Amino acid sequence: MIDSNFDVIIIGAGAAGGTTAALLAEAGLRVLLLERGKKVVWPNVSRDHLRNQRFARYGHNAGPEIDGNPRVFVDPMGNERVVRPFEGAYSNNAAAVGGGTLVYGAQAWRFMPQDFRMASTYGVPSGSSLADWPISYQDLEPDYEKAEWQIGVSGDNAGSASPRRRDYPMPPLPDTIQRRMLREAAGQLGWSSLCPPMAINSTLYNGRPPCAKCGSCVGFACPSNSKNGTQNTMIPRALKTGVCTLISEAMAHRIDTDDRGKVIGVTFFTSESGAPQRISARSRFVVVSCGAIESARLLLNSASSHHPRGLGNESDHVGRHLQGHYYPGATGFFAEKTYDGDGPGVSIATCQFNHGNPGVIGGAMLANEFVKLPIHFWHTSWPPNVPRWGLEAKHFMRDNYGRTIHIQGPVQEIPSPESRVTIDPKVRDRWDIPVVRLSGTAHPETVRTALFMRDKAEQWMRSAGAVHIHSGGVGLYLSGGQHQAGTCRMGNDPKNSVTDSWGRVHAHDNLFVIDGSLHVTNGGFNPVLTIYALAFRCAQGMIQRL
Ligand SMILES: Cc1cc2nc3c(=O)[nH]c(=O)nc-3n(C[C@H](O)[C@H](O)[C@H](O)COP(=O)(O)OP(=O)(O)OC[C@H]3O[C@@H](n4cnc5c(N)ncnc54)[C@H](O)[C@@H]3O)c2cc1C
Repeated sequence: MIDSNFDVIIIGAGAAGGTTAALLAEAGLRVLLLERGKKVVWPNVSRDHLRNQRFARYGHNAGPEIDGNPRVFVDPMGNERVVRPFEGAYSNNAAAVGGGTLVYGAQAWRFMPQDFRMASTYGVPSGSSLADWPISYQDLEPDYEKAEWQIGVSGDNAGSASPRRRDYPMPPLPDTIQRRMLREAAGQLGWSSLCPPMAINSTLYNGRPPCAKCGSCVGFACPSNSKNGTQNTMIPRALKTGVCTLISEAMAHRIDTDDRGKVIGVTFFTSESGAPQRISARSRFVVVSCGAIESARLLLNSASSHHPRGLGNESDHVGRHLQGHYYPGATGFFAEKTYDGDGPGVSIATCQFNHGNPGVIGGAMLANEFVKLPIHFWHTSWPPNVPRWGLEAKHFMRDNYGRTIHIQGPVQEIPSPESRVTIDPKVRDRWDIPVVRLSGTAHPETVRTALFMRDKAEQWMRSAGAVHIHSGGVGLYLSGGQHQAGTCRMGNDPKNSVTDSWGRVHAHDNLFVIDGSLHVTNGGFNPVLTIYALAFRCAQGMIQRL
């Protein structure tokens, strides 16, 4: 039986929710942290190569459960179908204590100053909702620094692509064959390169060991506990205060409001301690940190007579501007060995093409890939002219797995108001809660940028001496997935945003959204360090308001 009165209820114990919980609890607030997923540690997170958050062909290892958590996907022709969490169209991230950070690859990039001013820098393409953030890089810089030091990031001070006041807390992870090859190749092209910042310990840090280089990073929990997510950094800090209660396997159903429309708490279902229970907890503040897709769902599902279109949705922006990252790239096959098998695998990047590309809006960082599961190699890096089965396929795998490099990068997407999350009128989940309906596609400018970046990946590969290169096609589709963002964008004007620049939902004094939903644009980088930094900023803002 839980106490039902709190200062703050935070829904979602992922990157942002876990961070916010620690900061608010350490400020003395009584926090209830609700997480629909399980509380798991490494031995209990499946290591199955066919069912994991990286290669999810047959299932996931970090939730949500395959059955009972459907979504509805509407394709560009208007055909709709029910999808399950491991299907690409579902756009899943993860559901566990730690959220995506339990199984992420842990690239920990800052955005660049221009990423906060995309509309001013490039203009607004027709049909897009490209906009500037209400804050600048300089506003967020101190919070990037806090995230790097408190979560724990190893990185390359000399090569940082964004201005910084303080060094990384740890030096970069050790050298690899690919770093040496690609550094030289970038140099030949006149491109700058750097070691990617990683939320992985390169030294003993905060009592946990340096990376064991096992390669079991992306899609899995870390066997040596050297990868830093909220499950082993911020959430333990929150719990240590004694004023934070964490309930896992607790699914928030709706944010409750009183008869004047004021937010008063959250109703959730839990089966953590046996039989399913429906609990209505009360609090002075509610923070929504469910990840971009589920945060929009919860706000829309919390409609009432005062807020008939959902909470925070007066201007019809909740759920719109859904974006993630197109990930163009190329695989190169080499005559010599390129692969030493050392994790995490990703070891070199270039930020040469994030901005300033003639005729292209924005760009992307390019990096070599994480250690690849053999099945992932088979699925994504197999040349079209090689048979996929039989002796020839086996020989190809044996001869080439250790002689390839894969370069790819997250394209800064141009948001579209029609890429969106709404609520499906018919389909419900195992708790009888209406589910997400995903519709729309990315903006055509995103495809143009992706094609440009694919060419750059091929160019880098050629310069490194690849004897054969192949890369996939790029088409229009709805983007979201693991880098999902943008569905409750922040802004100064309530007419075209959902929250203010501190994550406070317009027209509500005590309702906040703090997660990837806030991103106005999603940068040409993996997003999590920006999500952490926003959590530091918004939590600090909340504390100052109290
Ligand atoms: C395999 C993988 C690799 C990745 N690699 C990288 C990387 O290298 N670098 C990078 O920057 N990013 C990476 N990411 C993405 C990164 O994990 C996300 O950007 C980040 O976790 C998003 O943070 P968030 O706070 O918005 O949401 P999340 O971390 O997704 O947290 C949201 C939490 O809310 C919970 N929740 C949702 N709805 C409810 C509800 N109604 N009630 C209760 N709880 C709820 C969810 O279960 C989840 O745990 C990766 C993700 C995956 C899965």
